[in-house]
Amino acid sequence: MRKTTLPKVETRLYIDGKWLEGMSGKEHEVINPATQEVIAKIAQAGETETKQAIEAAKRAFPAWRKLELAERVEILRKISSLLEEKADTLAKIMTIEQGKPLHEAKLEVLSGASTFLFAAEEARRLYGETIPAPNHHRYIVKKEPIGVVAAITPWNFPSGMATRKMAPALAAGNTLILKPSSDTPLSAIAVFEIFEEAGLPKGVANLVMGDSKVVGGVLTASDDVRKLTFTGSTAVGQKLFAQSGETLKKLSLELGGHAPFIVFDDADLDQAVEALVAAKFRNNGQVCVSPNRIFVDEKIQADFVEKLLARVKKLKIGNGLDEGVDVGPLIREDAIEKIDEQLTDAVNKGAKVLTGGGQLHGDEFDHGFFYQPTILDQVTQKMNIFYEETFGPVIPLIRFRTVEEAIEMANDCEFGLASYFFTKDVARVEEVSDALEYGMVGVNEIAISNPETPFGGVKHSGFGRENGHYGLEEYLQVKFINLKYRD
Ligand code: NAP
Repeated sequence: MRKTTLPKVETRLYIDGKWLEGMSGKEHEVINPATQEVIAKIAQAGETETKQAIEAAKRAFPAWRKLELAERVEILRKISSLLEEKADTLAKIMTIEQGKPLHEAKLEVLSGASTFLFAAEEARRLYGETIPAPNHHRYIVKKEPIGVVAAITPWNFPSGMATRKMAPALAAGNTLILKPSSDTPLSAIAVFEIFEEAGLPKGVANLVMGDSKVVGGVLTASDDVRKLTFTGSTAVGQKLFAQSGETLKKLSLELGGHAPFIVFDDADLDQAVEALVAAKFRNNGQVCVSPNRIFVDEKIQADFVEKLLARVKKLKIGNGLDEGVDVGPLIREDAIEKIDEQLTDAVNKGAKVLTGGGQLHGDEFDHGFFYQPTILDQVTQKMNIFYEETFGPVIPLIRFRTVEEAIEMANDCEFGLASYFFTKDVARVEEVSDALEYGMVGVNEIAISNPETPFGGVKHSGFGRENGHYGLEEYLQVKFINLKYRD
């Protein structure tokens, strides 16, 4: 079996500007999903360490908040340039712990650099307001940081999900504690090494890895933590929502998705197929905005399927470190089981597998969690895959006859994160984008995540927005001052 060399990276907690061992004797093993090798053993925080991190963030808050704006902006810019400079190394770390192809990992690190740059620029534009007031009065509205922010992030974008929380939180003048996923802590650690190098003052950003229930329990129970920002599954988001009730934290919850992708009869089919394959197989379908239900007008179904099959068969699956690989492994063994279950249920209820349909075996595939790119035809609302989030390389095809039917089925979903449709009809663009119950709509386009634009969902996909000036607002609170300057 081939042996992977992990670039040099810390494995300890980062609290109050120091790298710490954490709970004695406790370590967590990080596995390379392409080979199942143990690539690192990570220090673990318990209650004590998590409380230390909260205390450190609390102590650091007054000075960070009052730091001269130009200095805060300069540190954020420095972080952005270091992310750019070290993108190749950070990408390699990410591919080894998470599995995605190197070129995707690098784009993710670079998008983190853009996020920090955007946040640095936006920090200069945290405008307040004055409101017309009675004579001898000023009504002043100020935007202030909230205080200590806790951020909990998933494994599918182990760098990007952390940077898109930390950049705006810091730009707004908050201090923070990050708890990354136990599956992929190394990418977050690498970002903290950059924080240190960029001169972020001690205690401003703290990093704790550990048992999520313990760490999450301490973070949500603490009255000193005034905001929780979470990206992950809807089930865990619901728990954290309930746990945060007691301390009435401000919350942002970026949860699951089950994106519809509608191809109307007038769409450019080549464009739609390219877009679908790019969006679906990015990170092997382990993406909250991945197209998960593909609605195709029955008039163009045959042509569309032919083009799609030809395109999917060209995909190269393999270890993300290897040249030319389009799709890496899944994150864990249980991800394979979950997809198998969805496929079995669908096939038992009448769906047809057009290609793929199971785990990949042979040679180096046997050492990792590889799955065949799969196309499933004749999917209906009777099947679990229609309603459950699919986190893998499966394209379920559903036919429709009318625009109304497509919209009705697309909205028949508890989630409301991303949606996509392809058409050339301007009136249809307007009507369908109005009718879709989703936080984001891509029209003839799949790029819906940018540093400047609001990212987030409705319904069971949560609430709050990341990116853009909306993203910064999530880390600010409003103060009203009524100033009487003369009797
Ligand atoms: P997850 O199981 O919900 O875990 C997410 C994070 O929550 C991890 O850091 C995990 O830590 C932690 N966690 C788990 N149970 C916890 C608890 N009881 N208390 C506190 N923290 C807890 O999700 P995932 O499998 O990592 O990520 C996939 C999910 O994220 C999908 O549903 C996907 O759609 C969603 N997602 C949403 C967005 C968005 O922007 N809307 C973006 C990316 C992903 P441990 O790993 O240590 O258990």
